[in-house]
Amino acid sequence: MRFITADTIYSISQNPINNGVIVLDEVGQILDVLHSDEGLEKTNIEKHKGIISPGFVNAHCHLELSHLKGLIPEKTGIVDFAGHVIGKRNAISDELKQEAIRLADEEIQRNGIVAVGDISNDDSTVEVKSKSRIQYHTFIELIGFNPLNAQKIYETGIELRKKYWDKNLIATLAPHASYSVSLELMNLIAKENDGKSTTIHNQESKTENEFFEKGTGDFIKLYESLGLKIDYFKPTTKSSLQSYLQNLVSNKNLALVHNTFSSEEDIRFAEKLSANLFWCLCPNANLYIEQSLPNAPLLIQNNCKIVIGTDGLASNHQLSITDELNKLLNQFPTISINQSLTWATLKGAEFLGIQNQFGSIEKGKKPGLVLLENEGKLLSVSKILQ
Ligand SMILES: [Zn+2]
Repeated sequence: MRFITADTIYSISQNPINNGVIVLDEVGQILDVLHSDEGLEKTNIEKHKGIISPGFVNAHCHLELSHLKGLIPEKTGIVDFAGHVIGKRNAISDELKQEAIRLADEEIQRNGIVAVGDISNDDSTVEVKSKSRIQYHTFIELIGFNPLNAQKIYETGIELRKKYWDKNLIATLAPHASYSVSLELMNLIAKENDGKSTTIHNQESKTENEFFEKGTGDFIKLYESLGLKIDYFKPTTKSSLQSYLQNLVSNKNLALVHNTFSSEEDIRFAEKLSANLFWCLCPNANLYIEQSLPNAPLLIQNNCKIVIGTDGLASNHQLSITDELNKLLNQFPTISINQSLTWATLKGAEFLGIQNQFGSIEKGKKPGLVLLENEGKLLSVSKILQ
């Protein structure tokens, strides 16, 4: 057995405990969480300075883009960003791509992350994921705006998912975004997922709303520059979210990723439509691409379930949940450390459906334990305890 204590234990399932003691068995499963060390005078207790948190759940990452670290210019807006990613994502040998994925997986572990929802367009992450200590849930990302191609693209996704399933990895289908996936393809994805977790990039840019509301803006230019005719598309006069969400709500847990330009009307519309929504915030990626941040207080006011993602290294300098939380804690002073840690642990675990093992320091769970330092509200990982 191991006995571990620190200045404060953020168990997440109950209020923060000062000088509490976590009791673990040999394999890291929680046996008990004590409120003091009374009666343990003769026991060897590991004492730490700082905060103990459960391991983090990174709800949104793109491991397969790890080799793009530092290669995509910042603050160009989503359309130029997408153009750079499309142009550069395959300009690398398989060997170097694998090496970048392996290093990213190591970085994730070093940063106290124990589970990841990861977007995949190909099978390049199968090998690293199958050997990793991290619990991965792969979202097989499908892209196809032409309704006539929906069935074909869906079948490609099923084939790719099999490569993950063959290695006993968890994988479900996921639409990329409203402006790149037809409603027909969304319907096929929702039916196939049959109540399992999935995700979609949502309202990451202003121009995404403009595309649906007016049929103008940078996405029209993007399709033109790619030589793709989209005459089949008719603007809905509604925001992006309000144009597609009804086609995806049969998925049990749906994470909307980014939400940088979601209005209060969008949030209310969405929450009314589904009780199983998660709002994933990736603030560093939003700053990298759009120089904007999502309105976290508005989501809190509307009782939304918030989760945290790092996005991938194409749009971030690191894969660190504490770095994402620091951006939010710094920008929105009303957010407390305990609240933000709840998003980064238990809410993420609930989104991925793995809360029986992960997300809180509770008897019977094996959530991983991370020692954090905090200078005011600036968090950093100082040690992985379990
Ligand atoms: Zn993403």
